[in-house]
Amino acid sequence: MIYTVPVTGVFITNMYFLIDEKTKHGFLIDPGASADLILQVIKRYGFQIEKILITHGHFDHIGAAEIVSNKLRAPIYIHEKGKRYITDPIWNLSEESGLKVVLRDVQYLNHGDVISLESNPNIMVHVIYVPGHTTDSIVFYSKEEKAAFVGDSIFKGSLGRSDFYGGDEVQLFTEVITKILTLPEDTVLYSGHSEPTTVGIERARIYKKVVE
Ligand SMILES: [Zn+2]
Repeated sequence: MIYTVPVTGVFITNMYFLIDEKTKHGFLIDPGASADLILQVIKRYGFQIEKILITHGHFDHIGAAEIVSNKLRAPIYIHEKGKRYITDPIWNLSEESGLKVVLRDVQYLNHGDVISLESNPNIMVHVIYVPGHTTDSIVFYSKEEKAAFVGDSIFKGSLGRSDFYGGDEVQLFTEVITKILTLPEDTVLYSGHSEPTTVGIERARIYKKVVE
């Protein structure tokens, strides 16, 4: 089951819970801000968060990660290229907003890794490396839920931005086409800053644009 919680820092970011209904254990994806709100929701619904997953190291996706991680004793996972972002407030864009967000204690992921719940290993996500928005962008794909948490690589109706540190417009386009839009077309794409969309809808939109 997927729950969306919009969290507000400098920007509004969609934070997600992927929860096993049977055990209430699950993953928390992109705690960008509002640590108190996140912890309240977890308490109210009785969730047990096993791992905190990060789609990329921009500050509006990691801003509350350390506080939430410490409170819940849940480790943080990010792509190995995320080291540059989580240690550098210029690269993670927090400095220009007057903040200095850094993460100290994280575990690193690579393309092809599979992360499953300890309480129910049938609940799992696949790590798909999709650089272009940043050098560390990954997608967490759940086949069972027909869901992909895509961060800022693609939104409903547009691709993500590629003009930040480590961004690359051609790479983003190629990676989205070959690694996200090749998932089953009924896969729901949950992004950092838009309504959900589907692979089918975005594929039709992008190919129409290419043909025009
Ligand atoms: Zn971003």
